[in-house]
Amino acid sequence: KGEGRNAYRYYTEALTVAARQRLALESRLHRALAHGDELKVYYQPQWDLQSGNLVGAEALMRWFDPDEGLISPAVFIPVAEESNLINLMTDWVIEHSCEFWVKNGLTGANGLHLAINLSPRSFSNATLAVGVQESLLRTGFPPHLLELELTEGALMQEGTGALAILQSLRDTGVRLALDDFGTGYSSLAYLRKFPLDVLKIDKSFVDVLNEESGAAMVTAIVDLAHVLGFRSLAEGVEEESQASFLRACGCEMYQGYLGSKPLPAAEFLVLVSKLKSE
Ligand code: C2E
Ligand code: CA
Ligand code: CA
Ligand code: CA
Repeated sequence: KGEGRNAYRYYTEALTVAARQRLALESRLHRALAHGDELKVYYQPQWDLQSGNLVGAEALMRWFDPDEGLISPAVFIPVAEESNLINLMTDWVIEHSCEFWVKNGLTGANGLHLAINLSPRSFSNATLAVGVQESLLRTGFPPHLLELELTEGALMQEGTGALAILQSLRDTGVRLALDDFGTGYSSLAYLRKFPLDVLKIDKSFVDVLNEESGAAMVTAIVDLAHVLGFRSLAEGVEEESQASFLRACGCEMYQGYLGSKPLPAAEFLVLVSKLKSE
């Protein structure tokens, strides 16, 4: 009995420590967002599989904490999602990267598209589309080059009016991509209803392309995307053999270490100008 009580106390203490750490992280993140220079946006190139051309990039957030160094988005995004910070962060990434695109001439003729991650929490915000439109206007970013990524979870939230919010986003002229496709739980019936442009095939499927069943799944997903009128983009492509397979089965685009890791803004610009002069 005594032991049980100790175990219980240990458990609550551990919980308290975790909760305190989370709160501390949350307040540091708040500060980072207010001061600006700790948060950076990296850009991961996206490539057309047929032509090999650079067609766009995904904005991925990085946090350089003065004490802890680089903190992964896998750590701080969930913390931001549990608080209201995620909506502020999303606004910040949209505004910051749209401005970067315009300032560096990436929106001109043959402009590159810019993909930005939305949190499922964004879909409980009825004014999401208004905010996006304001950012587009303020930065002078052409709507058709902005691609917003959402996950299956965002679509499946019940009673939140996700479909209406997606439609209002679509009405601003931006494109919509379904991220991590195949890892969530959206039904095919739902998928048909949503005004999407791109299905992003999750890395976990790309990883098993060397297995017969994995290859068959990826082929089926690419076909499904086409039946629904969407294009497909494979994520996490690391090997040329994976790219060849994807090309052969009609997948339109890819991103992954084979092409490039996510790059700091300045390095991304160097890559763009190098490709332009080739
Ligand atoms: P995600 O949206 O699925 O982004 C793709 C992740 O895969 C990125 O991790 C990227 O660096 C990584 N990746 C890309 N190619 C390869 C590859 O060939 N091999 C391997 N092993 N990994 C690859 P990252 O940057 O650590 O981001 C993790 C997640 O954090 C993202 O997953 C996204 O869900 C979230 N995230 C990042 N930035 C933001 C943001 O600004 N807003 C929101 N809401 N979420 C974000
Ligand atoms: Ca993404
Ligand atoms: Ca993804
Ligand atoms: Ca992912």
